[in-house]
Amino acid sequence: MKFAILTLFPEMLEPFLHGSILGRAIEQGVIEIELCNLRDWATDKHKSVDDTPYGGGPGMVLRVDVIDRALAELKSKVKGQRSKVILLTPQGQQFTQATAEQLVTDDRDLILIAGHYEGFDERVRSIVDRELSIGDYVLTGGELPAAVVVDAVARLLPGVLNPESLKDESFSTKSSITLEYPHYTRPDSYTPISQQLGELTVPDILKSGDHQKIAAWRLNEARKRTHKPL
Ligand code: SAM
Repeated sequence: MKFAILTLFPEMLEPFLHGSILGRAIEQGVIEIELCNLRDWATDKHKSVDDTPYGGGPGMVLRVDVIDRALAELKSKVKGQRSKVILLTPQGQQFTQATAEQLVTDDRDLILIAGHYEGFDERVRSIVDRELSIGDYVLTGGELPAAVVVDAVARLLPGVLNPESLKDESFSTKSSITLEYPHYTRPDSYTPISQQLGELTVPDILKSGDHQKIAAWRLNEARKRTHKPL
């Protein structure tokens, strides 16, 4: 799967997308991520991509003509009509694990547009396929939201993670139990330094070696977590 991110600040995304698991997936050719600087599609000598809003008001608005030119070129590179254009905006549909699963099933390459400043000219909404928000809060730009979408989608693609790691995961739509069971590792007994909590231990059952009992315990814990009010 190929991802192209259209942004004014590609340097913000570079280290995150090329590190750790995503970096390895890129090296292995499982995914491709292209960071595209919106200024490359500006036509004046100042490389302008935004302008003041009609009707007045604070901030700068990203221009529809610049974004449209960028999309036309990127679509022809990213498997033509097989690409899907996603606008990151706090006003979009809430991005969830179900959305990530759906984008994997769709199997279309993704072009993600990260906004900045006041956002976009409203007409940009007419030239995209989908608008996604990562939550009901406002960030300075769409770079983090774009990275969130790429990360959540990419890790579900075959070859990125060990399939066992995806089993029983929180929020998966493949199960009605939506939160994963608790994990523990060494040391098997630990007393936190700064809080009066006393000794925290690992449940004995996890050290019993009885895989059937462990599976039953995990299922029960996942159920309890899923139904426990926050
Ligand atoms: N003026 C806009 C509003 O009130 O809806 C907010 C613009 S925000 C400062 C700049 C850009 O950051 C947006 O165009 C969008 O690309 C991105 N952004 C900020 N918060 C976001 C969120 N929760 N989800 C997705 N994108 C977001």
